[in-house]
Amino acid sequence: MRIVHGAELAPLTTLGIGGPAASLVELRDLADLPDVVTYARQEMDRHGPPVALGHGSNVLVHDAGCSAPVLRMTNRGIRWSGARDEDRVQVEVQAGHPLADLVAATVAEGLTGMEMLTGIPGTVGAAPVQNVGAYGQEVSDTLVEVRAWDWRLNRHVTLPAAQCELGHRTSVFKRSRRRLLLSLVFSLRRSARSAPVRYRQVTDALGVPPGSRVPLAEAARAVLAVRRAKGMVLGSSLHDERSVGSVFLSPAIPPSRVGELRAAGAPVNRFPDGSTRVSASRLIRDAGFGLGSPVVRGVQISALHPTLVAGDGATAADFARAVDIVRRRVLDRTGVLLSPEIDYLGDWESPSRIRRLPRRGRGPAPAVGES
Ligand SMILES: Cc1cc2nc3c(=O)[nH]c(=O)nc-3n(C[C@H](O)[C@H](O)[C@H](O)COP(=O)(O)OP(=O)(O)OC[C@H]3O[C@@H](n4cnc5c(N)ncnc54)[C@H](O)[C@@H]3O)c2cc1C
Repeated sequence: MRIVHGAELAPLTTLGIGGPAASLVELRDLADLPDVVTYARQEMDRHGPPVALGHGSNVLVHDAGCSAPVLRMTNRGIRWSGARDEDRVQVEVQAGHPLADLVAATVAEGLTGMEMLTGIPGTVGAAPVQNVGAYGQEVSDTLVEVRAWDWRLNRHVTLPAAQCELGHRTSVFKRSRRRLLLSLVFSLRRSARSAPVRYRQVTDALGVPPGSRVPLAEAARAVLAVRRAKGMVLGSSLHDERSVGSVFLSPAIPPSRVGELRAAGAPVNRFPDGSTRVSASRLIRDAGFGLGSPVVRGVQISALHPTLVAGDGATAADFARAVDIVRRRVLDRTGVLLSPEIDYLGDWESPSRIRRLPRRGRGPAPAVGES
């Protein structure tokens, strides 16, 4: 086990922002877990459980960095189990394995369940934390169980998916440091064809009617093309690459507003948890944030998609301020309070720097939104 004191965290995140970790430990092999636990427990009285880090694609690290130990998960590996000719195949995956590689492997194996998750950056271990999802699929569709280290119980635990409280971009792990996810088991169904393609942009790209099931690789290719056009695939654009994807959750809307929002052309979708949500990016656009427009020094709206991205000289304080400005203006202009999807990592005053904002001026009441 190697401990690096004062390691810079910014290069380990996709925003490229934030200060150093008081100590950074890499967990490349689960055989090293006992040493990591011994070290982390020495620090727990002062700092609480260590902070897990995957590829840093959903975090905003404080400018002062992180005084709790940071555990970077780089353990990789995929183990298929069960007979390959059976209808369902189980796969056990190490937490530090790149999600994109797992998705590609399932498509290559002729397994449906993850093909729409293509292009989402990050590690497999972080995927249940916010129940990652896109274009109609979520981790909750395929997750069987997670194996974790529980810092409170000080032992290994196995949580069946039903106990993970997987909801819309949330779970029992979100904003909780209690458990370090070590490995995960998924179950996928053998099929040459994808799940029904329901999202308009993807069916348009494929030239098929909504609900069509197309060859797995074609579905994945179409999703990737749609994502690339929005700058939602890292490494595919020359600019606006310092991103965390969607900064905000898509807010839930009551049934009474679905018709009105659809009539106004807003993308409104039903999610597996039963909620109906409007896209946060649409609300950001409706609040008057044009593509490519600056929000604060060093932080702007992407030129490709209405989301915040970092530029030269941006600090975590700048980014957090930009988040507040967007929330406030969206609330004032649309009556919807956006909630951040990203995690605030490090020495922020509270787990999330964002609090419910007071209403300003004469804007409409916050009729819908997360709470
Ligand atoms: C361009 C872009 C597009 C994106 N598109 C999508 C999308 O379509 N859908 C979507 O849902 N998300 C999307 N995201 C967000 C992000 O990719 C996911 O949230 C991803 O799961 C984060 O993985 P990570 O390894 O980078 O986690 P990190 O950012 O390193 O960590 C995220 C959180 O998970 C915790 N964590 C990480 N690993 C573990 C572990 N092993 N055990 C316990 N806790 C852990 C961290 O402490 C932190 O709180 C996108 C991001 C970008 C930059």
